[in-house]
Amino acid sequence: MAIYSHRHAEKILCCFLILLCPSFTAFSDNVYSPEFYSVSQEPPVENEDYKKIRFEVRGRNIHKGVRIKATENKSERGVECEDLKSNYNFTEIQTFEFQKAEYELTVPRNLQGNIYLCLPSQVIKNSGVPPLFNSEIFKWFSQGPNVTLDITSKYNASLQRRALPTAADAPPSPSDIRIFGIRLERAYKDPDFDETGVPLLLAHREHTLRLFGEGFTPSMVVTFTTRTGDCILPVGNIFHVDNASFSATTVLVKINLPPFSGDEETYYVCAKDGALGPNKVFQHQGTVYWLQIKIFENALPLWATLVIIVLCLAFSSLFSGLNLGLMSMDKTELKILCNTGSARERKYAKIIQPVRNHGNYLLCAILLGNVFVNSIFTILLDGLTSGLIAVIFSTLLIVMIGEITPQAVCSRHGLAIGAKTIYITKFVMILTFPLSYPIAKFLDCVLGEEIGNVYTRERLKELVKVTTGENDLDRDEVNIISGALELRRKTVRDVMTKIEDVFMLDYESVLDFETVSELMKSGFSRIPVYESNRQNIVTMLYIKDLAFVDPDDNTPLKTLCQFYQNPCNFVFEDVTLDVMFKIFKEGNKGHMAFVHRVNNEGEGDPFYETIGLITLEDVIEELIQAEIMDETDVFTDNRSKRRRTAERRQDFTGFAEKRGEPSKMRISPQLTLAAYQYLSTSVEPFHHNVISETILRRLLKQDIVVHIKKNKEWRTDPTNVIYQQAKPVDFFVIILEGRVEVTVGKENLVFEGGPFTYFGTQALVQTVGIESPSVAPSTMGSLESLNIDSLLRHTFIPDYSVRASTEVLYLKIKRSLYLAAKRASLMERSKRGEHQTEQQFDEEVDKLLHSLDEDDSVSAGRQTPRRKSSRKSQEIKEATSSKDNLSLPTSPRTPAHYSNASPPHRMSARDINGIKSSPVEDGEEISLLPRRS
Ligand code: ADP
Repeated sequence: MAIYSHRHAEKILCCFLILLCPSFTAFSDNVYSPEFYSVSQEPPVENEDYKKIRFEVRGRNIHKGVRIKATENKSERGVECEDLKSNYNFTEIQTFEFQKAEYELTVPRNLQGNIYLCLPSQVIKNSGVPPLFNSEIFKWFSQGPNVTLDITSKYNASLQRRALPTAADAPPSPSDIRIFGIRLERAYKDPDFDETGVPLLLAHREHTLRLFGEGFTPSMVVTFTTRTGDCILPVGNIFHVDNASFSATTVLVKINLPPFSGDEETYYVCAKDGALGPNKVFQHQGTVYWLQIKIFENALPLWATLVIIVLCLAFSSLFSGLNLGLMSMDKTELKILCNTGSARERKYAKIIQPVRNHGNYLLCAILLGNVFVNSIFTILLDGLTSGLIAVIFSTLLIVMIGEITPQAVCSRHGLAIGAKTIYITKFVMILTFPLSYPIAKFLDCVLGEEIGNVYTRERLKELVKVTTGENDLDRDEVNIISGALELRRKTVRDVMTKIEDVFMLDYESVLDFETVSELMKSGFSRIPVYESNRQNIVTMLYIKDLAFVDPDDNTPLKTLCQFYQNPCNFVFEDVTLDVMFKIFKEGNKGHMAFVHRVNNEGEGDPFYETIGLITLEDVIEELIQAEIMDETDVFTDNRSKRRRTAERRQDFTGFAEKRGEPSKMRISPQLTLAAYQYLSTSVEPFHHNVISETILRRLLKQDIVVHIKKNKEWRTDPTNVIYQQAKPVDFFVIILEGRVEVTVGKENLVFEGGPFTYFGTQALVQTVGIESPSVAPSTMGSLESLNIDSLLRHTFIPDYSVRASTEVLYLKIKRSLYLAAKRASLMERSKRGEHQTEQQFDEEVDKLLHSLDEDDSVSAGRQTPRRKSSRKSQEIKEATSSKDNLSLPTSPRTPAHYSNASPPHRMSARDINGIKSSPVEDGEEISLLPRRS
């Protein structure tokens, strides 16, 4: 059945090809295979140049105009003729019903001997020429030794007449071979059978038949005929039985039959004993259907089949490539390419777009085309080989060449291939229009119009993320895109600074130094102001509003708020960031908003509850997915409260007076700040490297301020003397307010000093102890050397006197306090390395500095031990007086001695040993002119 259906499929294919190419018409019903079986001739008629021989042939498929060739080489029937004589001219005289024809042969006169006739394997009806696509176009086949013309001059027609013996001629034989049935033993390919069970065999292919009967002989020969009553016109060759399989009742015979003209034809079996010679006639074995075979022929010649197979494979490959290449590229992608692709991509996309817009139609056309060529391919392959091989080969070839390769290529170059084969695609669309268009329309109706890939927010974000590396976006850009796409999903509640973390001021507070310092420390530029409770935010204070406010004035915040009346902007907690961003962009209500919600929990009326604060910076941080740091920011992230690692800003709150502290002599925080700045930058022993900032700040908070007031005995009061010439001192002095009179040397040179003039650095720094060699020298010294220093009650003997000339405010820092501060600095440095918490450290420093107060208070009642130690130091001093590093108590010197600067310059108070004046005021420069005291 397979072959039967296959044959019909092949015919359908053939019809299709005929439709495509009119020249194929030539080998549909019009192609025949002529055959001569016998010939009878007249004697040659000669003239001077040539001789003519008239002859009659019998056979089948003899049409008008059949071309004949001749050769002098004798050969078997069906063998290709060699050495064809082209100068022999055949003229057709008449043709009878395709089985008989008369011709006249003209040959050179001197030609003698036999001439054998040759015919092409196929001819076109009524033209005699071979068909255009005949694979054996140049081949001519011998009609066998029976079809021979004798062209010798002495030809005797009556003697030489040759013809196939007829049944009437044959003498009847009692021992005739009788065949009762045939069976197809082996077919060239899977055989098919008609409805009565008659085998359908492919022409020109070898098949093996098993014959059943009686009277079989080893020399038995078989032939076939289309005639129902006799065997006078056998078809094809005579076949010898296979002796190996021989038995008296059954035998195998290999047959190879030519096709009959037109449709398949029934062939009947003829048999005879070959040993009886050519005169023995073939016996017709009857017309019962079990003694019949039918022959068909492939509609296409081999080469055409191969060409079509290759074409089918190529188209299969193209269609599946296009299917992937074109269909995987959706409308959106094409639009994007049309607008943003490279010049080439744009060109290709524009070519493809109109076709791709009919998505379903294109899909149907491509798939129909693909299935069509794949089917043809399989059928043709099946025609060439057996079924199983066809299945295996067609599967392999279609998968490898028709599917995998083109899809792999088109997944990368689909655009270019699609554009370059657009005409084929269009042609296929037109060709399959009757089928593909209605299907496409139906699909459109059922599935809806194809809209192409639409990217949702999530997908777009993910697309950008997963293509990082392949696209040309850098990390920040990817973050910004993702952030922008996220804005609508996040609400202000997600990014706000919680109300408990908001730095705000009470409406009733006063803008004193402490408050302002706190404001500065917070680093925020906009401070919410609340009244009575933190939920009730009433206004805002901008730091710039403080420009004209003097902390000394202790201005109430209320006054400032009433003056500026900065508005507050409130938003609900569920406002999304994109809306918030829009509000901030408009800028009508500033770049800060308070987040509130309606609280209806518990009993009582619902009320608005402020839960946080949001600024433009918070929204932008979400947009760019990174933290923005401005110059005043203290925290890197307002939610995690992570402090920034950059150097912290100056903290002035330490200078503010702490409320409730025991009363000491106090100076204004501003003045303390100024003293701090001056000491830490201009006075070497108090430099940052020696005394740390925090310790210096604490030092200044100790009880070190001395105020000399004006009284009646101003001039003579000994308490007005700060330093007395030649009287040992152990403290350092810096004048903060007022003026002092300095009397120097034997000549009593007098000059004046003002604020920020300082005296007695040597009382602080002059070391007497021997530095331990194991301790590396450093600016700060070592704890060991400091301890020795503190033990040695070193004193400094000034060679000048300092005395208040006006009311004076000065700082008096004792050596012991200074050394404690130095030690604390050292400790701070080492403890910081040990990750000690700030609080722990603060406590220790407080203890250290506080111990001095106790020390001082005890020292008042401990004169003896002190003196002892002083004596001890004196001893050490004396013992080490020869050493360079020992500084002896300073003896009075002339001003010239005070110069320690190498380049000669005008001597100023700064140059005087142990006395330095502030560089701030010009007027502060010390006059060296002797004054009359
Ligand atoms: P500023 O200009 O004051 O530095 P930004 O608008 O730059 O304020 O905001 C920086 C961060 O500080 C944001 O996260 C914001 O929520 C937070 N922030 C702003 N003002 C305050 C405040 N008064 N208290 C607490 N956090 C604040």
